[in-house]
Amino acid sequence: MRTCELRGWLLNSVPMNDATDLLKSVRDTSNETEFYTPFPDGYKTGKTKYIAVFGTVMSGLGKGIFSSSLAKLLKDKGLRVSPIKLEGYLNIDSGTLNPFRHGEVFVLDDGMETDMDLGTYERMLDQDLSRHNFTTSGQIYSTILNKERAGGYLGRDVQMIPHVTGEVKYRLRELAVQTDADVVFVEVGGTVGDIENSFYIEALRELSYEEGEGQVLFAALTYILDPPALGEQKSKAAQLGIKRLMEYGIHPHLIACRAEKEVGEKVRQKISIYTNVPVTRVFSMHDLPSIYLLPGKMRQAGLDSEIIQMLGLGGRVNSAVEMKNAAQWEEFAKKIGKADRTVTIGITGKYVTLRDSYASIIKALEHAGVTNDVKVDIRWIETTEITDANVAEALAGVDGIIVPGGFGVRGTEGKIACIKYARENYLPYLGICLGFQMAVVEFARNVCGLAEAGSTEITPDCTDPVISILPEQKKIEGLGGNMRLGGQEVTITPDTIAADLFGGAEHIRQRFRHRYEVDPRYIEQLEAEGLIFSGRHPVHPIMQILELPHGTHPYFVAAQFHPELTSRPLRPQPMFVGLVAAAKKQPKS
Ligand code: GLN
Repeated sequence: MRTCELRGWLLNSVPMNDATDLLKSVRDTSNETEFYTPFPDGYKTGKTKYIAVFGTVMSGLGKGIFSSSLAKLLKDKGLRVSPIKLEGYLNIDSGTLNPFRHGEVFVLDDGMETDMDLGTYERMLDQDLSRHNFTTSGQIYSTILNKERAGGYLGRDVQMIPHVTGEVKYRLRELAVQTDADVVFVEVGGTVGDIENSFYIEALRELSYEEGEGQVLFAALTYILDPPALGEQKSKAAQLGIKRLMEYGIHPHLIACRAEKEVGEKVRQKISIYTNVPVTRVFSMHDLPSIYLLPGKMRQAGLDSEIIQMLGLGGRVNSAVEMKNAAQWEEFAKKIGKADRTVTIGITGKYVTLRDSYASIIKALEHAGVTNDVKVDIRWIETTEITDANVAEALAGVDGIIVPGGFGVRGTEGKIACIKYARENYLPYLGICLGFQMAVVEFARNVCGLAEAGSTEITPDCTDPVISILPEQKKIEGLGGNMRLGGQEVTITPDTIAADLFGGAEHIRQRFRHRYEVDPRYIEQLEAEGLIFSGRHPVHPIMQILELPHGTHPYFVAAQFHPELTSRPLRPQPMFVGLVAAAKKQPKS
C-alpha cells in the first residue's frame, strides 16, 4: 500500500484509505491543526483523478470547449467523466445575469441557471448535468457564512486558507463521490491573475498536493498573438501568462495554444522551453469551422493517450467501446461544413449584437443542419424598427425564422409582425418561449379578432391578456411568483406535427424558464379558430406546444419551453430538425 507522506506531519506514513479517514476526522477538530480538509463520506483517494483547466492572457479562449472536448475523448473510452465550472462571481447562480454581458443563461434539468459553458459540456458529452456541476464564489461564501453563524468552525477564525479553499476541495470531492467519476474536469472561470478566481487556483494547488503524485493534471490555455504587421506568431504574451500561473505554484502538464491559424512547431518549441512542458503536450488549438472538430484534432495530436498515461488510467479504458464511439463521432464530424445546400434562418433577437446570448440556438441549428445535409446560415434580425409595412423587406431571402426567448417589451411588436408574416406567407416558423407567447398574441389579434390581445408582461392592462401570470395556477405548481424552471413533462397530442416530430412519444421532457403562459380562458377560442395546442402539462391547463394544422402551413410550431437546451450533436432536437427540413423545401427566390 502506498503511503501518503505528502500530506505532512499528521499523516506521515499513513496508508491511503486510512489517510482519508484521518483527514475526515480532522474536519471536526480543526482548532487543533492547520489542516482543514473536509472529505465527503465515501470518498476514496485515488479513485477519481482531476484535470483542472486555467485560462491565461485573456478571457474568452474557450476553456469550456477545450475541457469538454478532452472530457469527451475520455468518455468515449468508457471512462466516467464529470465536469465542474468554478465561477468567480458572487451571484449564487446565473439567473440574474444579463445575457448581453455574460452570454446565455443555460438551464439544467434540475432548474439550476448556469453559465453557457455548461451547455457546451452537455452537448459535447451528451450528458445531463446538475447543480453539482456548477459553483460560484457566491455559493462558496454563502455556505461558509451560514456555517460560521451555526458555529460550525469551533471557535476558529474563518480564513481564505484553509476554510474557503477547503470548501472548494470539498465540492470537487463531493462531485467525485456523487458521480462515481473516473475523471473530474475542473474549469476555473476567468483568467489567471483575476483576484476573484485566485482562491480556486489555490484550492487546486492544495488538491494536487493532497491527492498525491499523478492524480491531478493541470492544463493551461493561452493565446498566441499574430500581429498582421509582423506576419509571424509571437509567444511572449503566452509565456508571461503561463509564468503567472506558475507563481501560484501550479505547473501545467498540458498547454493549449489558442490562435487564429495553426501554431507552428517553432512557436510550440519555444513555449515548451520556457515552461518545461514537453512539446508533445503543447497543443495548437487554432480556429476551426466547428468546435465539434476539436476532439478529432486532439486525438490526432495524441493528447488523450498522454493523459491516460499520466493519470495511470490505461486499465480503465475499454477499447471496443472507444472504437465504436470514435467511428460514430467521426461520421458526424465529417459532415460538418460539407453540405452543398445552404438554408438561411432568420433569428429575431434583442441581444443581436452578442451571439453568445443565443449559443444553444446556434448549436441546435448546426445539429439540425448536419442531420438535414444542409449548411445553416443565420441572419440576425433586429425587430425594433419592423412593422407590417416593412416586414417583407426585412425577411426577404430567409427560408425560415425563429423568434427566441426573451424578457421585456423592446422589439415585441416587430416580432409579432414577423410572426404574422411567417403565418400568412407560409414561411417556416419556430417560436421559443417568448416566441410561443407572441405567436399566441398574433393569432388572437389577427385570426380570433381580439385586436387588443397582449401579454401582461408587455401591456399589463391590455383588454385581452391571452398571455398572463396566473396566481391560481402558480399556487398549484407551488412556484409563487417565481420563474418556472427546469425539466418538466409535456404530454403530446396524438396525430399532430408535434407527435410526428417526437416519433409518436406520448410524453417528452423539456426545459422551461418562464413566468407567463397562455391564459386558459382563451384556449377554447384559440382552438376554435384553428390553433392547435399539441403539447400540454400532464395535469394542469398549461399550454406547452402550439402548431398550425398539418397541410395548412409548411411548418408553424412553437414551444413554451426551450428546445435548444436539449439538442445534442448526435441527437438533434426534433423541433429544430423540423424547422430546417421545412426551410430546405422553401422555393429559392
Ligand atoms: N418573458 C417570458 C416569460 O417570462 C418569456 C421567457 C422566455 O422567453 N424565456 O414568460
